[in-house]
Amino acid sequence: MSKADEAAPLYVDDDRWDRVVEATDGAASVCYQCGTCTASCPYDAIDEKPISVRGLMRQSQLGVDGVGEELYRCLTCKECEASCPRGVDIMDAIGGLREVAFEEDEAPGRLEGALWSVYEEDNPWERPASDRDAWLEEVPDDIDVPVGGQADILYYVGCTPSYDPSLQSVPAAMVQLLEAADVDYTVLGDEEVCCGDVVRQTGEPDFFQQLSEMNAALFEETDAETIITTSPHCAETFEDGADLGAEVVHYTEYLAELLEGGQLEFGDLDRTVTFHDPCYLARGMAAVEAPRQLLAAAGVEVDELAESGADTLCCGGGGGNMWREGDGGKRFADIRAKQADDTDAEELLTACPYCVQTLDDGVKKVGAEAPVRELATVLLEALEAGDETDANNGGD
Ligand code: SF4
Ligand code: SF4
Repeated sequence: MSKADEAAPLYVDDDRWDRVVEATDGAASVCYQCGTCTASCPYDAIDEKPISVRGLMRQSQLGVDGVGEELYRCLTCKECEASCPRGVDIMDAIGGLREVAFEEDEAPGRLEGALWSVYEEDNPWERPASDRDAWLEEVPDDIDVPVGGQADILYYVGCTPSYDPSLQSVPAAMVQLLEAADVDYTVLGDEEVCCGDVVRQTGEPDFFQQLSEMNAALFEETDAETIITTSPHCAETFEDGADLGAEVVHYTEYLAELLEGGQLEFGDLDRTVTFHDPCYLARGMAAVEAPRQLLAAAGVEVDELAESGADTLCCGGGGGNMWREGDGGKRFADIRAKQADDTDAEELLTACPYCVQTLDDGVKKVGAEAPVRELATVLLEALEAGDETDANNGGD
């Protein structure tokens, strides 16, 4: 048993036990307390005590109290789930425990603030709902982005790229890529609302359900068969909510399909980068190949980080931890920035808005050389390089 697993005395309360089993849907029932999950929790990499996942599963089985802040430190990175020999749905159990903690008023204030912001302004960043389409100003004037109406594809931008000025170039790049591939798409503009990731992570099932149904109704109006998301967190959140009547995919998977179908062609960027696999993309959606296929087609070599693909190390932002106050200590993003410095990469790429924000902080903090970029903006560069080559060769 690891130190993190040293358990406090257990006091079982029957009523609480009923509520915990209901909220976790019995997800931990097959856990046999081996502790492999605790041993795989990455917190020791930043000199913090790993989460006692084994202990949390015990609490899921018995309904005992006293999980508090420990529960909300979880990054939902799924490293523990990937190592569990019994296939326990640890994320379901932790989600259920958070629901009970929220009912008992144990959710951290920082998450409650984000939750109120979603309630009042449809986004967790305390920004006006009416400014949500500000990213459209980053799109070149000769492109008339379809907003609303019906289309085969709905591109769901998400809260963070809609509002963060350093990320608004990502949806702007995405619509240019979709236009180049002649895709019949639409976006929701300022009608778009939060996917509910932070609401789900806080443990507020009723409001999450309400948001999820609101999104389903908005999506239905577009008649789209496929919804593509900028963030893998949005994609997974939609999968967990109401039936959307449409397939949800992350943009890397969708663009890789366009590439395979010959609808997208890139020029040669001839550079070496490294790629941080977002946990939700590589472990949650098993989409390890799509970003690499896209980069290979753009003539970009990937010098891999020390932990990559399905073995990726979390950037530190998942599970509501984007709203966690930093204490100036070591952070996961610092480790990733240093790992990037150990490669020959000119740029540190990723494909998730949370990862861009955390990694960018890490690069600045440790003074790493490779700047952080979001993959879609690099693909737009490759698209433009291809157009330029065509023009030089006398193509149209
Ligand atoms: S959740 Fe899985 S890995 Fe963790 S203690 Fe239970 S059986 Fe072992
Ligand atoms: S999901 Fe990640 S951070 Fe959370 S308990 Fe599992 S390994 Fe630790």
